[in-house]
Amino acid sequence: VTNLGEFELIDELTRHLDPPLEGLGIGDDAAAWTPAPGKLAVATTDMLIEGIHFRLDWTTPRDLGWKSLAVNLSDLAAMGARPGHALISLALLPGQAQLAEELYDGVRDLAARTGTQVVGGDTVRTPGPLIINVALIGDADPDRLLRRDAAEPGDLLVLTGPVGASGAGLALLLADGPAALTRPGAAPLLAAHHRPVPQLAVGAALAELGLRCAIDVSDGVASEARHLARASGVAVEIDVDSLPLPGEAVALFGRERALEMALSGGEDYQLLFTVPAARLKEVLSAIDPLCRPSVVGRVSGRHAGGAVALTLAGAPYDAAPGYTAF
Ligand SMILES: [Mg+2]
Repeated sequence: VTNLGEFELIDELTRHLDPPLEGLGIGDDAAAWTPAPGKLAVATTDMLIEGIHFRLDWTTPRDLGWKSLAVNLSDLAAMGARPGHALISLALLPGQAQLAEELYDGVRDLAARTGTQVVGGDTVRTPGPLIINVALIGDADPDRLLRRDAAEPGDLLVLTGPVGASGAGLALLLADGPAALTRPGAAPLLAAHHRPVPQLAVGAALAELGLRCAIDVSDGVASEARHLARASGVAVEIDVDSLPLPGEAVALFGRERALEMALSGGEDYQLLFTVPAARLKEVLSAIDPLCRPSVVGRVSGRHAGGAVALTLAGAPYDAAPGYTAF
């Protein structure tokens, strides 16, 4: 890409990863492994483009590597699937070989924690912008898949943890740039934005419990609830007063703005899932050691095309529809 040729760079990048446990990894024409017998393959891919999905002036390459893998792992978590093998493709500008190596260190940080193996990919030169594409393949039990289209009237809606932290972190960065790091109370919000933690253990537990319906919160709770409602053909009510907000976001931005960040900020990567009311206690106590679950609403009935109503103290609540991606 600069002094290094493509093949030397691939060799360098491979040294930043652990070797594959079985099968063939980086270095042949394609990767190969044995899929588990009796399993369903679950695949997802996500592309991140500099200037649209991230900015290098306040994101380190290592955090960027972590996040590139995290957003894909979150989609597997939302399916109740396990990772997995990943293929990582980079479009690099001249002079970005060192950046690519640091990015791979960030990928390895999260890969090692989640049992993900990076088995291949591609690197190309580009005049810009930097592009990172991760393809991730995992597996699930065929009769234990979490889907968007399985919500039923009478189900309760549950979130696995606080929402709005990443949006608050982004708001700090947009206002202050890298100086946001020095703001008191900013650290957990910036960490949520730069190093989101995919809820793989909770997703697997929900699938194991026989639940059917989940989605990950990549675009804000309001938008994810709409996806779920549309796919399931149901009407959903969300009580905005019950949304778990990070204390730091409320302290820095006030409750109303923190609420907007939760509803439309995005990139929190919590799971939003449904539970039949009769199973609520059992499910909450089962997942309590893994996350901080909150009941945030309910499925109020069937509705062709889906519908979401936000309420505050029983009255309709108007949310700003805005979503900023960075
Ligand atoms: Mg998703």
